Amino acid sequence: MVSNSDVIAYIAKKDEHEELIPRTKVKEYGNTDLQPVFFDDELGKRLFYSWVCRALELGVKRISKSYLLGGCSWTLNEIRLDIYTFNDSIDDRFIKNLLEETTRLLSQQLRVEKVGKNDLLQILKEKSEVLIYEVVKDNDSREFMIVKDDGNVSVCLDTCVEQSYNEAVLEYVNQSMVHWRGDEKSFLLTRLHIRAFPSKKAKNSQAELEREYSLRDHVILGRELDLFLTDPSVGAGLILWAPNGAIVRKLMEEFEYKLHLRHGYQPVVTPHLATSELFETSGHLSYYRENMYVFDHDGKTHVVKPMNCPFHILIFKRKKWSYKELPVRYFEFGTVYRYERAGTLHGLTRVRGLTQDDSHIFLRPDQIQEEIGRLLDLLRLMYSSYGINNYSFKLSLRDPNNQSKYIGSAELWEKAEKALEEALINHGIPFKKEYGEAAFYGPKIDIYLKDSLGREWQCGTIQLDFNLPERFNITYVDQDNKEKRVVIIHRAQIGSIERFLGILLEYYAGRLPLWLAPVQVALLPVDEHSEEQRSYALRMRDELINNGIRAEAMMEGRLQARVREARKIRIPLIVVIGEKELRTEEFEAQWIKYGVDEKGRYKPVEEKITVRGIRGLVEWIKEEVGRETHGIIK
Ligand SMILES: [Zn+2]
Repeated sequence: MVSNSDVIAYIAKKDEHEELIPRTKVKEYGNTDLQPVFFDDELGKRLFYSWVCRALELGVKRISKSYLLGGCSWTLNEIRLDIYTFNDSIDDRFIKNLLEETTRLLSQQLRVEKVGKNDLLQILKEKSEVLIYEVVKDNDSREFMIVKDDGNVSVCLDTCVEQSYNEAVLEYVNQSMVHWRGDEKSFLLTRLHIRAFPSKKAKNSQAELEREYSLRDHVILGRELDLFLTDPSVGAGLILWAPNGAIVRKLMEEFEYKLHLRHGYQPVVTPHLATSELFETSGHLSYYRENMYVFDHDGKTHVVKPMNCPFHILIFKRKKWSYKELPVRYFEFGTVYRYERAGTLHGLTRVRGLTQDDSHIFLRPDQIQEEIGRLLDLLRLMYSSYGINNYSFKLSLRDPNNQSKYIGSAELWEKAEKALEEALINHGIPFKKEYGEAAFYGPKIDIYLKDSLGREWQCGTIQLDFNLPERFNITYVDQDNKEKRVVIIHRAQIGSIERFLGILLEYYAGRLPLWLAPVQVALLPVDEHSEEQRSYALRMRDELINNGIRAEAMMEGRLQARVREARKIRIPLIVVIGEKELRTEEFEAQWIKYGVDEKGRYKPVEEKITVRGIRGLVEWIKEEVGRETHGIIK
């Protein structure tokens, strides 16, 4: 997506040092390397919203000194201002005044001041801002940024850069009631939901982006392409796959299954239920219970599996392993069930029943780096088959200041973290380090893919685990004949089929690659009444199907309407069968692929291909599918 021109601030680079500076101070920085931060950027939004929050809080105080500020936060596209009103209701007039005052404040040159914690607490006490007082008191910082207006003060707990806007646009969305600090036993605050933009232009371009999001909404596409549904009698977050969806799902499974066999993995299959004993050993029952479906039967507690790991470990444990036999790689499409709050469920991307492309690799500590390298190769190969080349990596490491909360020796952690990092570097993969983001049982790599609208989706994960090998006491016999502890890598390439397919649908605006399309070819007789053309279309369909190609003959109605329908349900190849084609046996197919315009909006790319006879069409499709899947599906 192209950035619009709303510059929020600049990053000034001098030597190795970077500093955020206001737009107004650009002149003072003369020759420094200046990089603009736009409203479209994540950082730009954060800085802008944070500044609007300051203006909103000061705006509240301009209108009513008696209202207490309860904090101001934001999400991706709205600002949330919390106010305690002593039972006054917030009416339209207050909101109108607030937006006006805030707009006025945004156009002024408000200053940011630094103030020490004790001084700030003193100021807040004098101003009777008892709620913000509590927030500051509990914050570990010794210094705070504040913005003042007319004796009132607004505290910034995020990065604060001075800004001013003459054309800012503010819009009131609605209001809701929230408990103070999310504590249900606590009192209620009024929360105002507000949208804000630095200019009318930014607002318009955001609106355009949102229109594009809605066109790509996988729930709507799922209905249009007849892929999946849910039903209240089954329950929320549990997907019913219609034939078209089941085909796509099966193709994803077939592809991954073959790919894994080629790369030294062995399939395993495990049950959906277990007694609670298994998940007590794994520790899930103590720290994951609220997400698990637990029930009693025959006087014993059972669980529906939330994870596949303990099952794979038991399979590994069935025999004694020598150091020479490792790594051992197990692979399963494991369907797991996890309780998620109803409010968080969404289409395929947030569900309660999901199928992971789950692997557990059992290996020696000295094999970690090489294995991670293999995993990264496999991942690249797989993502490129889905046509995805734009993804990024996050390396989650220990919190260096709080090492006691992690299991495993410091030495092992250091080795493992280094192994992950070196594997990424050796593969020339840029990544971001996140300290304190590791799981308690080991460091991990998370993979995010980015779509043409700039949205990021978390997909695969590669996690090292020193914990479960301890809990299940799994070992191998080393060269010196001593039993040593195995290391486990938990790994999902796409994450879950449900979520990944939801993401793919949005990524491609429903136009999946040829190998993955539920129907690959639409066969359209030009004249719906011509017996000759109709029977040829049927013969062609049958022959394509016999060759493992998914084809449909669309015969009824005007040709134009049928072409429109085939395009609407995103069939990639449209073959028209007319008199000329029957005579020459030469067919022209319209090949429609996913593409985007300069703004990242979905715009199909069309190509004409010419093939000789049905055989020619079969061969062309097989070759293209083989090319897309690196020869794995033919
Ligand atoms: Zn696992």
